[in-house]
Amino acid sequence: DSSDDFRTFGKKLVDIIADYHDKTREFPVLPDVRPGYLSRLLPTEASDHPESWESICKDFDTAILPGMTHFNSPHFHAYFPTANNYASLMGDMLSDAFSCIGFSWIASPACTELEMITMDWLAKSLGMPEAFHHSGPGQGGGVIQGSMSETILIAMLAAKHRMLEKHNLNQVDAASKLVAYGSKQAHSSLEKGARIAGTQLRLLDIDDKHSMRGEVLESAIKEDKAKGLMPYFVCATLGTTSLCSFDAIDEISAVAKQEGLWVNVDAAYAGAALICPEYRYLITNWNGIDSFALSCNKWLMVTADCAVMFVRDSLDLLKTFNVDPLYLKHQYQKEAVDFRHWQIPLCRRFRSLKLWMVFKCYGVAGLQHNIRKQTQQAKLFENLVKSDSRFEVVNDVKMGLVCFRLIGDNSLSEELNNRVNEARKIHMSPAKTEKKYFLRLVVCSRWTVDEDLEFAWNEIQHHANEILMEQK
Ligand code: PLP
Repeated sequence: DSSDDFRTFGKKLVDIIADYHDKTREFPVLPDVRPGYLSRLLPTEASDHPESWESICKDFDTAILPGMTHFNSPHFHAYFPTANNYASLMGDMLSDAFSCIGFSWIASPACTELEMITMDWLAKSLGMPEAFHHSGPGQGGGVIQGSMSETILIAMLAAKHRMLEKHNLNQVDAASKLVAYGSKQAHSSLEKGARIAGTQLRLLDIDDKHSMRGEVLESAIKEDKAKGLMPYFVCATLGTTSLCSFDAIDEISAVAKQEGLWVNVDAAYAGAALICPEYRYLITNWNGIDSFALSCNKWLMVTADCAVMFVRDSLDLLKTFNVDPLYLKHQYQKEAVDFRHWQIPLCRRFRSLKLWMVFKCYGVAGLQHNIRKQTQQAKLFENLVKSDSRFEVVNDVKMGLVCFRLIGDNSLSEELNNRVNEARKIHMSPAKTEKKYFLRLVVCSRWTVDEDLEFAWNEIQHHANEILMEQK
């Protein structure tokens, strides 16, 4: 445990990481293992004595690495991207080196202040109005949370608190009266949030572009009010998980504002695209929005975890989460931001270091380039799919996700998904609308080149040919 050992082995580790990155595309994207594989390779008890670095590395190579899914492989096209790059990695290394847990300003002033500064950089580069800047005229600002699920839960809890306080209600009333809304395509973390917040949730129908519309929300609110319920929260999604569809945020926030609902925008993946001015038409009116969150660890080149949440009025969070024991008090708490009141845990890592590193090393232009390049690559793949009359594209491809299926019974596309993933040359995750099962191809890796999309398409066509031949 000496700094000399760290110098030696730390440098070797950097080589191991760089070598792995140089070879990532050569690994089969999915591991060839079954559940429980690792317990057959590793001891059942921790060793009593320290082990050598060499033996630790050997275990890593022979036992752990074979069970890894290679999220950054250019052949990985499932879920959404999981960012990875050296700038962010080094930011996290620094964060680990200081291992500060800056729950309040005094706990590490730089941890709080760098977070406020990078949140403002981000808000400005996304074109968000001053109301969401720490340096703005109000109480708004951004905070880094551990996950998008937490951002949704926090927004729900704050909205619930606001409603209960306004109407002088209690928790029992909340369960029987409060109702939240989202679309049928909203992420499942909304359902989880409603369970934890202990309120009702209604998932609304979407239009033919898979968008939740203002008038659908309006009539749901009317119906629910007539039943004696109290609508309190709506989660609009910018870039749904299954289809990367976009709720009509301007319409929804106009309706919600009139009805006194909290509007949260879940922009987990697609929010990053607002860094490119050509996508800003997706939200033209921020006035009705109370909170807006995106996952920088998806499409903004910051390694997990870095879910960023901007709120219009941080007092809503403070009123919901402020507990103030003596051991956490400090002399500057009236004038400084204490992020512990903006989140559920107390401790918080110095996550803004990696965001800061990414901004410094890539600049806004580098982040824009990544989004534009991956969108173009998705378009290239969409054209390949469209050139084959046996297939249909089921989403409006605006960003890096292409949803497609074999025309005909769902079972054909299910079989295609199974065979493609079992072959382990590329990896995709499927999804479903009410009627249609489809495959999703996302451009995920920073190393993706156009030929990787052609490779994926050839692989898909190969399995489709076999399936359709067997049908005859
Ligand atoms: N919202 C959307 C639109 C998502 O796509 C996801 C995950 O992919 C989430 C929320 C949940 O994110 P997290 O895993 O950070 O909780």
